[in-house]
Amino acid sequence: MIDLHSHSTASDGSYAPAELVALAAEIGLSALALTDHDTVAGIPAAEAAARERGLRLVRGVELEIAFEPGEFHLLGLGLERLDGELGAALVGLGRAREDRNERILSRLSDAGISVDMDELRELAGGGRIGRPHIAGMLVRSKAVRTRQEAFDRYLGKGRPFYVAKDCLELGEAMRMIREARGRVIVAHPLSLFVSWGRLASIMDEWKELGIDGIEAYHPAAKIGQCRRLERMGRERGFRISAGSDFHGAIRPDRKLGRTAGNLQIQDSYLEELGLAR
Ligand code: AMP
Ligand code: ZN
Ligand code: FE
Ligand code: FE
Repeated sequence: MIDLHSHSTASDGSYAPAELVALAAEIGLSALALTDHDTVAGIPAAEAAARERGLRLVRGVELEIAFEPGEFHLLGLGLERLDGELGAALVGLGRAREDRNERILSRLSDAGISVDMDELRELAGGGRIGRPHIAGMLVRSKAVRTRQEAFDRYLGKGRPFYVAKDCLELGEAMRMIREARGRVIVAHPLSLFVSWGRLASIMDEWKELGIDGIEAYHPAAKIGQCRRLERMGRERGFRISAGSDFHGAIRPDRKLGRTAGNLQIQDSYLEELGLAR
């Protein structure tokens, strides 16, 4: 069993990179891709822990791409170089994210909802702060009952305290992942929030552009939808990926090594993606 999509405290997961790898080893994974949002800061610690436990760590990242109406997330898997253009862009995205957090907090504060920055930092566990952490603070201060309610009422796209994030253009992000020698994989394509017909033509464009594959299997989709995505992907010659998008306690419904329909993620995906060694 393996997993090709996971998050640590370097972004919005609840396990530190080494803890995440320890958990992966305990449940018997032979390989794990760490794919934090907009950062590769967790990779060195995860790699060191993976070496100790004899598990393969696939270096990855999850980038947000400018898109309407839904969310477009692009995975870079099997990165060989963490410096270069990609590293520089991630530094910039980190700064933009800090500015955005300040703006969200100041809007909340104007509305009489105060969030303490130091407490927020502590809740984020030393990594990048994002909306899931702000949502956590709103739960803590009893402004809402659940994180989901925080998104639904305040922080989600189209809600009053939503602030758009600086994101990359697809071509730019692809070029940087390529330069780092990684595979370019579209994460959970259903989050684009387009019809199946529109998705089919978007997939044709992706093929043209040279995208390597799609993450057809993701727990936010139903298994039948995943199979349909796989079929559409294979028709176009895409590589197929599968992940859990594990975040730890922050999203307790996600299980490491398992994807849609609670399916175990098979080792064969490593070969499929040209990542087997
Ligand atoms: P950020 O990178 O700060 O914009 O936060 C993005 C993360 O927030 C995503 O990876 C999701 O885990 C979570 N998220 C975004 N929108 C929603 C939503 N409507 N409901 C629940 N979680 C969401
Ligand atoms: Zn996340
Ligand atoms: Fe994502
Ligand atoms: Fe993710």
